[in-house]
Amino acid sequence: MIQNRYVITMYILLASLLLPGGASAQDSAKLKVVASFSILGDFAKNVGGDRIELATLVGPDGDAHVYSPTPADGRRIAEAKLVLVNGLKLEGWMGRLVKSAGSKAPLVETAKGIPPLAEPAGRDRAAPGVDPHAWQDVANARTYVTNIRDALIAADPDGRAAYAANAAAYLSQLGVLDAEIRAAVARIPADRRRIITSHDAFAYFEKAYGLDFVAPQGVSTETEASAKDVARIIVQIQREKIPAVFFENISDPRLMERIAKETGARIGERVYSDALSGPGGPAATYIDMMRHNIKAFSTALSS
Ligand code: ZN
Repeated sequence: MIQNRYVITMYILLASLLLPGGASAQDSAKLKVVASFSILGDFAKNVGGDRIELATLVGPDGDAHVYSPTPADGRRIAEAKLVLVNGLKLEGWMGRLVKSAGSKAPLVETAKGIPPLAEPAGRDRAAPGVDPHAWQDVANARTYVTNIRDALIAADPDGRAAYAANAAAYLSQLGVLDAEIRAAVARIPADRRRIITSHDAFAYFEKAYGLDFVAPQGVSTETEASAKDVARIIVQIQREKIPAVFFENISDPRLMERIAKETGARIGERVYSDALSGPGGPAATYIDMMRHNIKAFSTALSS
């Protein structure tokens, strides 16, 4: 008799778990978080773990400079309890999206506290802006992660211990990554540490690790490279014997193909500047992205 009642209770429990709605009831306990683009999404996933339900707006290989939000993005923002953005003027489209969604969720600029680099001088731009690509220095990635940890704790105080533990584990992986990049750069002959990429996405990397980057397009992909920018780069490659040019996953390859053809510079492997690759690609996480890029640079510059 007792056994029967136990069996019936188990059936009821199982049925309630399997009923439609059971899963969403469980998910609704999770903190709904929106990240503006894939790299921030990966940081948030590492810190939030299974306590958060994460939606990333600009996905793999997407360009966060010039994104056009969809109606589904508006719904995600409206439901979110926390919205994570880069800041440093990367997501010019986010303000309107948050406003039109009527969101009251905190909008956290995760690059906060990182000293911003100015847009490189010497361009024909109306006003020099700030460079948003701070994640390209792993020391800055640590700041992003601690900001995300603190934002998650503020939005979900019960998760404090979990968020702190996840962040600590991930920060130690970032420490290893930073040392790997430094060791790889040290192995590249000093006179070959020069690279051309399509847009100015690697200034933080340059400052942190000592490779020189030159790009025909500015820090945003919103403005096309002018004929003058391209001509200047071609002269510079020839004069300084820059060994390699790299395509970025978010950029149109035609410009770089033309530059490579006119200068004879070698075309390196595709690198990832502003977005991760899809799950099956070589840069599906931030750590894999940074490892992939330094390997691509090293391979093209070493021989
Ligand atoms: Zn960019």
